[in-house]
Amino acid sequence: MAVHAHCDDETITMGGTLAVYADRGVKTCVVCCTDGKLATIVDPNMPEETTRPHLAEIREAELREACRILKVDEVEFLRYGDSGMVDTPTNLLPDAFWMTPLNEATGRLVAQIRRFRPHVVVTYDGNGGYGHPDHIQAHRATLLAVEAAHLSPLFKDAGEPWRVEKLYYTAFPRREMKRIVEMAKQAGMDPPFGDQNPDEMAFLTPDEFVTTTIDCASVIGRKRDALRAHRSQISEDWPQLTLPDDVMRQFADEFFQLVISRHPAVLPETDLFSGVTPQA
Ligand SMILES: [Zn+2]
Repeated sequence: MAVHAHCDDETITMGGTLAVYADRGVKTCVVCCTDGKLATIVDPNMPEETTRPHLAEIREAELREACRILKVDEVEFLRYGDSGMVDTPTNLLPDAFWMTPLNEATGRLVAQIRRFRPHVVVTYDGNGGYGHPDHIQAHRATLLAVEAAHLSPLFKDAGEPWRVEKLYYTAFPRREMKRIVEMAKQAGMDPPFGDQNPDEMAFLTPDEFVTTTIDCASVIGRKRDALRAHRSQISEDWPQLTLPDDVMRQFADEFFQLVISRHPAVLPETDLFSGVTPQA
């Protein structure tokens, strides 16, 4: 079960992983917390005036299409209001996910966990990956829900208790960004974040936090198609859509940080399910 803030976060951060596990017969579920209605619309064929009023529905359809391509089994929408970027007035809108009482959001995720009964849950780290309020709220509610879901006195109306075996945060290692910058320079291309030094990019994960690497080379094409399905959000010049296949194959890994494991973990690992024993 992957808990994300907005439609497209699932594909950008772990679309390859979802496809890889679907191919292995693992049942997967994406939970999207917000309606994403405040996002920038990048598709020039989607005019602001006519698209904005329907953006929430458009993004839901995009997510469903991306998940069809990735072969995700279930897609769930919590439909909280998008809070907008950090420190913008929309953070304080009454329907904003950021303003939702944490107990309420946690209860809805507990219900999702008890319904779907995942062995493994993935969400963001405490900074939400890059500081977006909706990502931070998704992190907080998911972390609490994973621990509350197996405690029968909590959220009694949300289903039978279920214990998640492992919780991960999505990660983008500093060393991987350094490798990308180096490769771009050698190829005479512009690095994805211009002249910024990877050591100063706050959204990157310290290398020592990264525990788990998933090889997604076998599903590069599907990840690209899923990225393209989010056409209101992702333009054709997105780096992963423009790089040739042979280059993409060298950067096909997706990364995670293991934060909860009910069994002693052997790290580093290359499988989110290593050590997981099937439950009745
Ligand atoms: Zn997002």
